[in-house]
Amino acid sequence: MSHIIHRSLKVTPPVAASAQGVWITDRSGKRYLDASGGAAVSCLGHGHPDVLAALHQQIDTLAYAHTGFFTSDAAEQLADQLVRTAPGDLNSVYFVSGGSEAVETALKLARQYCVETGQPEKTTFIGRRQSYHGNTLGALAVGGNEWRRKQFAPLLMDVARVSACNAYRDRLPDESEQQYTERLLNELEQTILDTGAEKIIGFVAETVSGATTGAVPPTRGYFAGVRKLCDKYGLLYIADEVMCGMGRTGTLHAFEQDDVVPDIVTVAKGLGGGYQPIGAVLVSDKVMEPLRNGSGMFQHGHTYICHPTAAAAALAVQQVIERDNLLSRVQHQGNYLLQQLHAELAGLDFVGDTRGRGLFAGVELVRDKTTKTAFDPAHKLHAAIKSACLEKGLMVYPMGGTIDGQQGDHILIAPPFIIEPSQLDFVVETLKQVIIRETAKAAG
Ligand code: PLP
Repeated sequence: MSHIIHRSLKVTPPVAASAQGVWITDRSGKRYLDASGGAAVSCLGHGHPDVLAALHQQIDTLAYAHTGFFTSDAAEQLADQLVRTAPGDLNSVYFVSGGSEAVETALKLARQYCVETGQPEKTTFIGRRQSYHGNTLGALAVGGNEWRRKQFAPLLMDVARVSACNAYRDRLPDESEQQYTERLLNELEQTILDTGAEKIIGFVAETVSGATTGAVPPTRGYFAGVRKLCDKYGLLYIADEVMCGMGRTGTLHAFEQDDVVPDIVTVAKGLGGGYQPIGAVLVSDKVMEPLRNGSGMFQHGHTYICHPTAAAAALAVQQVIERDNLLSRVQHQGNYLLQQLHAELAGLDFVGDTRGRGLFAGVELVRDKTTKTAFDPAHKLHAAIKSACLEKGLMVYPMGGTIDGQQGDHILIAPPFIIEPSQLDFVVETLKQVIIRETAKAAG
């Protein structure tokens, strides 16, 4: 019996024993193609020799040094790399150990910015429905996944909420993409006015929303409109790219494809590619300068911030991505994956939508394609798909979306950037077989 508190308190998962490239092998010797990169983490695949070498070297020389006393070459070089490759004035970086910590850091930084710029009455945020920003209390508060929030709601700060940008779900039949986008931006503006701009610290959104809805890209012009409204009303624009960032969508930051630069950006998963737990917050000069010229400190900190070993691993991951031109590979393989998903799955009876950006793809399943009615959550269709795929040696990341009543079960596909087209064929073909079988069962 396992003494670990696993995600399911009733079932212990298989024991992962080793991993190489896109494959993970369990203790029984069974191999799984890691087509979800865990949870969109393993961007380089497993066991990359350059990352392992960098890790070994760092551990041999300096595994850890507390930031209360020291900085380290590894952390400084990683910060240099992130600033050099970021657009606009995102010139400062705060390192943490994961995505939720990055979001908490972003929220506190944004609040301190308001205090230091003489706006202490700004105490709340605007978040979006069907969003996910992490499982700590601040991150859960700005997130809009009701299933995750429900029992903790009494512990969460009040946050104003606007619709997600999800054209498949919410665009009206007679609405153009542009009209839909304008409707969303009008809603955001109205929410700012209703809440009172003087009370709002910032607007928080995933650029391509991941865990709650399954790789839903924004409509054209949506984030440009968000940027304008944030500037007009003095709100900070915080982009949560913990899942969709660091190359996953084919550009280093997903927002680059929307021609905007946020004030604060959170990244994590693909930053260290799973070799070490690490996240980061990229911060604009606009936000940092008042703190530098004001109190001179950011009132925050964790024991493992700027961890040298984690930084060395992430630096190696990012250097390999740059050296091997993997972003262009993501664009090519991503186009192929999206094409194949569309060609093979979109015509199936219960596939409502296939979508994505780069190697970040989603498939949404619905009971009725015309009305987009979701399957009854009691079927736990997403869980059945996950198990059936695992049986066939395939890791995908399915989630049940029906708890919010506004989306169907969906499957997230986020393979390592090194994946081969033949392996993508295996992913699509296996998924197709599993979807046909499991949706037929759920439909009765
Ligand atoms: N933000 C987004 C957009 C995420 O997708 C996630 C995790 O899936 C998080 C934050 C939380 O990251 P972590 O699980 O590393 O705390």
